[in-house]
Order: sequence, then C-alpha cells, then structure tokens
Amino acid sequence: MGLQECEFCGLPFHSVGSNLCGKCAQQIDEGFLKARKYIYKHGDRADFGSVLENTGVDEKVLRYLIRQGRLEISDEVGGARCRVCGKPVTNGVLCTDCMRKFQDACGNHEPQTSEDKKRTAGISPLARFREK
Ligand SMILES: [Zn+2]
Ligand SMILES: [Zn+2]
Repeated sequence: MGLQECEFCGLPFHSVGSNLCGKCAQQIDEGFLKARKYIYKHGDRADFGSVLENTGVDEKVLRYLIRQGRLEISDEVGGARCRVCGKPVTNGVLCTDCMRKFQDACGNHEPQTSEDKKRTAGISPLARFREK
C-alpha cells in the first residue's frame, strides 16, 4: 500500500492495487455499465457520438474505457479502424488478429498444417474487404 497518482484525475490517493482513486473508479464503472448496455442494445449503430449523447457518460470516461480496451465502439472519433474486421486499432491499418491472418495469407509465415495452407491460399483478407 502506498500513495499513488490516480491514472484518471491525477490526484494522489492510497492505492489498494488499483490505478484509480475511489471516486474515479466509481465514475468509470458507472460509465462502463451504461455504455456497455447501450452498445449491447444498439450494436454497430452505437458509435462514439451516439453513446455519449444517449448515455450521458462523460467523454473523458468513454475515451478512457476505449483506451483500456474495456469497450469496443465501432466508430471512434479520430480512431483508426481495422480495414478487415472494423475493430478499432491503435496503430496501422489492421488489428493484430487480421494482421496475423494477412501475413499467413501472404506467406510471410509458414502455415502450421496443410489445412491452414488451403484455407489461407488464394484471396487475401484485404482483397476480400475491397470487394465488399
Ligand atoms: Zn481519480
Ligand atoms: Zn481486424
């Protein structure tokens, strides 16, 4: 146990294993529950703006949750998205999953089994995406 700076508000607090002070942890948990419920109900149409508008969750809280990977929002403002599956990505154009598949398809990695080879041969995930 020691004094630690809250990751969210920057104020020092006595940490009990969390990076957030009690006040922020509560605010973020409440925001998370509201936003998650909304996203669950509205699926792909729940983009960043509409979640903010309809849940009343603080924008800073929502951004924090996305950054922490606790929420996935289909249309994050200013965020890059995976060109294959549309998941938000922090850098580049592909998420790690699709990047791996793409590299397999390009033959940068040796497929583990002959079945893998059959599955990834031919059209690359990116080419398939463009046809959509
Ligand atoms: Zn705090
Ligand atoms: Zn992806």
